[in-house]
This record gives sequence, C-alpha cells and structure tokens, in this order.
Amino acid sequence: MERRTLFVDVLLPLHLPGTYTYRLPFEYNDAVKVGQRVMVQFGSKRLYSALVRRVHETVPSYKTKYVLSILDLEPIVDERQFRFWEWMASYYMCYPGDVMAVALPSSLRLSSESYIVVHPDFCGEYGDLSADEIRILDVLTRKSRITVDEVEEITGYKKVMPIVKTMIEKHVVLMEEELRQRYTPKQTVWLTLGDSYREETATKQLFDTLERKTATHKQLLVLMRFMQLSGFGREAVKRKLLTDDPELSQSALDTLVKKGVLEVEHREESRLAGGDATASVASIELSPEQQQAFDTIIHSDKSVNLLHGVTSSGKTEVYIRLIDEVLREGKQVLFLLPEIALTAQIVNRLRRYFGNRVGVYHSRFNNQERAEVWRRTMQPSADGFQLLLGARSALFLPFHHLGLVIVDEEHDGSYKQSDPAPRYNGRDSALYLARMWGARTVLGSATPSLESYYHASEGKYGLAEMSQRYGGVQMPEVFCVDMKEAQRKREIQQNFSRFLIDHIKEALANHEQVILFQNRRGFSLRVECDVCHWIPQCVHCDVSLVYHKSTNSMRCHYCGYSIPVPPECPACHSTTLKMRGFGTERIEDDLGILFPDAHVARMDLDSTMQKKRYIEILNDFEDRKIDILVGTQMVTKGLDFSNVSVVGILSADNLISFPDFRSYERSFQQMTQVSGRAGRHGKRGKVIIQSYQPYHQAIRDAMNNDYLSMYKSQIVERRVFKYPPFYRLVTIVVRHKDQETVNSVAERYAGLLRAQFGNRVLGPEYPSVARIRNQYIKKIMVRFAQGEAITEGKRIMLQEAERLLQDKAYSRVTIVFDVDPQ
Ligand code: ADP
Ligand code: ZN
Ligand code: ZN
Repeated sequence: MERRTLFVDVLLPLHLPGTYTYRLPFEYNDAVKVGQRVMVQFGSKRLYSALVRRVHETVPSYKTKYVLSILDLEPIVDERQFRFWEWMASYYMCYPGDVMAVALPSSLRLSSESYIVVHPDFCGEYGDLSADEIRILDVLTRKSRITVDEVEEITGYKKVMPIVKTMIEKHVVLMEEELRQRYTPKQTVWLTLGDSYREETATKQLFDTLERKTATHKQLLVLMRFMQLSGFGREAVKRKLLTDDPELSQSALDTLVKKGVLEVEHREESRLAGGDATASVASIELSPEQQQAFDTIIHSDKSVNLLHGVTSSGKTEVYIRLIDEVLREGKQVLFLLPEIALTAQIVNRLRRYFGNRVGVYHSRFNNQERAEVWRRTMQPSADGFQLLLGARSALFLPFHHLGLVIVDEEHDGSYKQSDPAPRYNGRDSALYLARMWGARTVLGSATPSLESYYHASEGKYGLAEMSQRYGGVQMPEVFCVDMKEAQRKREIQQNFSRFLIDHIKEALANHEQVILFQNRRGFSLRVECDVCHWIPQCVHCDVSLVYHKSTNSMRCHYCGYSIPVPPECPACHSTTLKMRGFGTERIEDDLGILFPDAHVARMDLDSTMQKKRYIEILNDFEDRKIDILVGTQMVTKGLDFSNVSVVGILSADNLISFPDFRSYERSFQQMTQVSGRAGRHGKRGKVIIQSYQPYHQAIRDAMNNDYLSMYKSQIVERRVFKYPPFYRLVTIVVRHKDQETVNSVAERYAGLLRAQFGNRVLGPEYPSVARIRNQYIKKIMVRFAQGEAITEGKRIMLQEAERLLQDKAYSRVTIVFDVDPQ
C-alpha cells in the first residue's frame, strides 16, 4: 500500500500570524485529527504543544520540520471553537494564537520549559533503550524533575527533543503536566465488607470467633463500628471515618483488612466541590412581575433579550427558571459574571437548584481544576456539567450543546479585557458565541449599558423590565449631603459629614450593618511635602506613588515599584510630609476613631488579592461579624446581604468628574448599584451620598433611581459627539522607550490613517498617564459610523501599521489596537 505524505497546519499559542506547517511522520497518518495537540519544535530549540488546524497533502515550498508526537487520542478543541477564536482575533485585531493562549487552560499547553518526569508505569527495563535514552533517564532519576532545556544543558546533547519524544512514546517519561492531568485525580480510600463475609451466617460466625477471645476484642470494636456505618455491610465506608476515631485501633483495622474481612477500595474523587441539589426549581414562585418577565423572554422572537430589573427585583430567580427550561432540553447554559469575586454567593444560590450539574470556571483555579472543568464540559456524560459559571474566560469552554447564555450585570466594564490581547469584551463575544450555536442570550442588569438599552429600544433586542423589588421591599431612600454646606457649618469630621455619622450610629445601635463605598479612582492616599509641595513619583511611570499604611511604603499602581516613606522631603529637607487624599485604608482608620466599638473590614484590591480572604470577608459580613464594610467597586456589585440598612457613598465627585465619555453613565451605574445593597429585605434602607456638586444631574438621576432620564440625556450626547452606540471606536496605542520615536511614529501613523479615514481619526495625544514602565505612550482614536465597512477599515489599519514598522528605526515600537475600548 502506498503511504501518503501528510502535512498539518498547526496553531501555536503565541503572538504570531496564521498557522505553521509541519510534516507528519507516517506512523501518525491514521491517528491524526483536527483539534488534537501535537508537539512541535518552533524556532531553534523551543518546543510547544500546538493544535492541529488542518491536515492536508499540499507540499509546502520550504523544508518542513516533523511533528514530534501526537499528545491526545481525541481532539480537545472542535471546529466551532476554532471559528470562535478566529472571529475574535479578526474582530479584536490580534492573532488566533493570542486567543489560543488565553483560551486553553495552561495545563493543556506544553512547551520545552515544561518538566519531564519518569513515567509512573515505567518498569525499569533498560533493555530496549538506546545509550542516549539511558543517559537522559539517569539524569532524570537523579533530579526527579527537569525541563527539556535543562536536559540539553546537562547532557550536552544538541537535539534532546527527538530523543525525549521517543521516550514519551515508549512510556518511559512523561510531560509533567500530562502526568498531573492523567494521574492525580484526588483519591479517597473506602472500605467494603469482604466478599466471603457477605452471607449472614458468615458474618455471624465471624462475630462469634472475635467475641470469644480477648486478643481480638479490638478488631471486634472496629468491625462493629464499620457495620454500624455501612448499614451492615450494604455500603462502603470512608476509611478516614475509622482511622480518625481515637477509640479504634489502627492495627486492628489493618488486621481485618489482611484477613480479607474488610476490603480496601480506592475511588477517584472530583476536586471540585459539588453535591446534589437541595431545592427544586418548581418550588420557586415567581411574583407576577417576574412571571411576566420570564414569559416575555421565553416567548420572545428575538434571540437576544435584555432583562432590565431594579436592584433586588429578583433577576436571579428569573434566570434560574430560564436555565431550568434549557437544561431540560438537554442543552448547556453559560452564566457569565463580570468578576469572579462575585461568584461565591451566586454559585451557592445556583447549586441549591442545580447541584453538581454546576461547573465553575475561573482563572484563580489551579491548572488541574481548570482542566477538570474543561473535560467535564466537553461531552455529555454522567459527570458532565450542564450549567457553566464563570468570568469572561468561560466563553472558551468546549461546550457540546450550548442553548442559553446569560450575561449578568451586562453593563459592567470589567467584561472587557484590557491587557494583553485579545482585548475582548466578554459580553459582546458572548453574543457572537451564542449566535454560532443558535442559542439565546439574556443580558441582565439594573443599569443596562447605553448600548444594550439602545438596541432594545430599537427593537433589535427583546426587552423585559421589572420595576419593583421582590417581596414588596421598598427602594432605598436616598439623601445627598452638600459637602460645601457641611464644611461651612463645620459639620465634617474626618471626611464624614455629621449626617452620615448620625445615620451610621443609628444603624449600629439597631445592630444593622453599613456599607461604605469609595471608588478606586479616589482611593489613593498620597504623600506631599507641606513646604514645597513635592510629591513622590514613580521612576518608571508618570504617576505619583500611592501610600500604603500596612507596609508604610509608597507604591506605583502601574508597575509595582515601591519605596519606604522617606523621613524628610528630598527636595527641601523639610520633615513635614503630609498625607493627602482619601483612600479606603484612611477611611478604615477614620472609622476606628469615630466608631471605636464597631468591627470594620476593608475590601479592595489590596486586601483581597487572595480569593480566600475575599470569601472570608464576605462570610464574616454575612454572619454579622463585621459591622461596617468599606470598599471600592467590589462592594457595589450584585451582593445580597439582608441586614444592611445604610449605604454611604463617601465622595460622588470622584465619579462624576472623570474625563471620559462614559463617566456620566458609569457614575449613575455605580451609585445605583451600591444603593441597591441597602435594605434588600424588609426594612427600607437609606443611602447617603456625599458630594460637593449635589445638583449634578447624575446624582439627581441616581437619587430618583431614574434610569430613563439618564438614558435619554446621554443617548443624545452620544449621537452628537459621535460615540457608541452610534459609532464604533478603535483606539491605537503607540509605545516605545524613547519619547521622540513615539512622537514621530504616532504622527506618521495618524497621517497615514487620515489619508484613508479623514476626520474620523483623532489624535495623536498623550493619555493621562503618558509613561508606564519606562515606555512612552501616545494614543490615536478612529471612529466608524454604524454600518460603515469596519472590517475593511481594520484591515487597512493593520496593514498600514505593519508597513510603517518595517522601517528599521521603528523596529522596537509597539502598536496596540483596542477595539470597542471601555
Ligand atoms: P437582583 O439580582 O435582581 O438584584 P436577587 O435575584 O438577588 O435580585 O433577589 C433579591 C432577593 O429576593 C434575593 O434574596 C432572592 O432570593 C429573593 N427573591 C427574588 N425572587 C424570589 C422568588 N420568586 N421567591 C423567593 N425569593 C425571591
Ligand atoms: Zn519639600
Ligand atoms: Zn510605576
């Protein structure tokens, strides 16, 4: 039989255009499939696991390297996923390799930096190994764990990879990631009654013999406990239950096992917590308004529906009913949240109804957990997941039959990945993904983005609205404190107005809880010299350093640069360095002075680096161990606590005066969302906004909870000033360590673009932070009217950039595109 020569085009998880062609060794001809991982060498020595995108017989014009090995029996990525990645790369102006790098859990990506280890099944038979292989094995047995690169160094061999490859095939070694994936599902040990003791007469006899001698008394105790736990041998018992019991003898247990009375059984246990549902969806009784929203969505002829429901209107219960409908058709549901920080509460709520059919996927999971979720999403099976919950990266899971995508808090800016590429918006990508599957999408929010509300009002999306809180709870009463006035009357103490202090006092006296919100933009505390006004700056970035009390240091929030607070001003040697600003740490301190008896906790980026800590704070707050919770954006989001009666927004001015076309919309959203945390159950809550501009329209709209007023005024501005949803924006960032070069590239590039797009090109301009990590930055913006040929426009932009950067003088300049910036 003639042997065909096959080639594969593979996708590498790198920032590279297109695919690369490799030749397939004949022995793989039958095994190769699109979507499998193969190991290939890329560059002079690096090894990667790449994905097979295409198998063909077209001989390339250049000499190709061989595929080193096939890593999977079955594809791990299907055609639809590839197409989704390709769409994303083209829409967001990057490469499919960039998408692959974020889409695959890292344990599914191998490279020559990966560790190799001796295969656990290797029998130690050196007979059929070559001298080179034995040498490598020797190195490995001495070091136990080593990268391919290191093997090359130690052995001095030039091309270790092909040798490693055959060793992998001979099952002598393994890539460690592979090993972890295949070999370490968590094991639990169980005990069952031995086969020959299952008969009632046999058990009875056994008890008799054990009872007769005092020497076997300890065995008798163990056996009795086992019988009791196992329902007289009907079920298996976790060994731990017996070994943890101090009354029982370990050696007696061992003896029973040796005799075959008890048998040991190892079982694989999922690393992911689960369990059965404890409540049935049918037990949810929707309010008339919820029912109507549910009906509207379920009967809608639009594939996308916007669920606009005020805070605490019970959107989650509507989602649960929708999810249930789709699961019953045997389809999967993807539930997206803007930030993983939010999942703890919602996961519990969903698990109550859907039990272990719920899979949670997020970047803070370790590799194994992520690989397990991946596997359990892929195929319909008994242990498969049907409802997948996660932040934007959950879009990349290998669904087998997606029927519904829910995007909760769809307005949230953190759906957008800003760095690195792909700079994609999770909500918008979800809409595309759903369309590929013919699935429905529900966008939910109390404060929809202008874009989504616009599409709903134009009839492109269906719209369901809920204007009442569930259970007849009233919307909170909102007050705005005029801080100028309060200052005049000397009613301000430590950034707190008398009015707010009094209300916090009252809440504490009633054993109710308080949430205080201070947005991140105003959250920094800076050091300033009282004499010459010197402010410490980052040496790598054009920003001032932020004071951190816990470490008594000053840190750059862009690059992490950090120095201790100096004892005196380096400019004028004055020792009167003062703290300025108004951060969460500072507020925490103020609260200590104002309310010495209250338990205060702080939740912001610094205090919640670890997910554990975050969950702890939330649990403590829920258990009422914390009276006052101070935080940044994180406290504004979808949390549901029953005992919060007062919410304070410490400085609304930071929100409304931010120079950005979304700032009005954003500040309305944040004020409304944080207000929504007040008085969700029973008693009417109070919200107190402190501001120097109490008559600002955004504050008025938030106070009246008037989304439509905000929408109407903003949509007009968006149209007039040419912003989304009427125009699509692409921002272009030019970066280089030399300022002159940045200026000249930016000017030339903007010129090239102007020749194509005329006055739709704005800039170049320095952004508010014009240098980050020693790189100077200039920004250009291009806008396209709705309906304009934006795909063609993007192609031209990329092409011009590529041409420009071919100039040797510009070789190290970076040009980054951000489509639909947030
Ligand atoms: P939203 O997400 O719209 O802000 P939630 O879904 O958190 O609101 O609902 C607010 C509260 O009301 C929650 O505690 C929720 O359990 C409760 N709730 C909402 N709808 C129902 C219902 N139909 N039956 C019972 N409780 C409900
Ligand atoms: Zn000074
Ligand atoms: Zn810096």
